[in-house]
Amino acid sequence: MALEDLNFQIYNCKKCRLWLEAKHGVPGEGPLNANVMIIGQNPGADEDQTGRPFIGRAGKFLDECLKSIGLQREQIFVTNIVKCRPTEKARNWVKDRKPATDEIDACKPYLDKQIELLKPEVICTLGDTARSQIFKRFGLEEDTIGHVHGRLFLAGNMRIAPLYHPAAALYDNSLHQIIMIDFQNLRQVLSQSKLTNF
Ligand code: URA
Ligand code: SF4
Repeated sequence: MALEDLNFQIYNCKKCRLWLEAKHGVPGEGPLNANVMIIGQNPGADEDQTGRPFIGRAGKFLDECLKSIGLQREQIFVTNIVKCRPTEKARNWVKDRKPATDEIDACKPYLDKQIELLKPEVICTLGDTARSQIFKRFGLEEDTIGHVHGRLFLAGNMRIAPLYHPAAALYDNSLHQIIMIDFQNLRQVLSQSKLTNF
């Protein structure tokens, strides 16, 4: 099955309650031959409006981090653990929430298929939700993002790089520094490997 077929399935998916409130499913985007895959938690308001991943403020910071290590967004496949925006009602407005376990489980086959189709050399997870799901999927020992951020983990032919979520850095200056440093370390490690993109 090609990525376009998968996207079509995601746009029309009703496998969990998230489709009810979402304007658009956000499958993710990037070239099929991308070496690097970036996985966030879920689409936010901007992504839900447009159907595109990481285009809000966190996405802008992500682009900055990528640029600082010589990467363009277009070289990378960017997606999320769940493909629809999870929200809850708070008085008169709608606010974001974390995806629930049953929502993550319902959406998992899409991410599995994307990983299978892309066969990326490196998966960068952003934030602890993505880290935890990908660690589980590849049988890596559970640990906190505080311990594992900035390190590389082997999973078969793939390398897993857990990073803090760029959204967290929008409110925390020291995290901002840490994320930038983790990206620099990632570049160093990967430039020593045979990855052509780095
Ligand atoms: N945060 C995420 O985790 N994913 C997005 O697509 C946007 C913000
Ligand atoms: Fe389907 Fe995933 Fe959207 Fe749930 S979050 S409706 S499983 S695409």
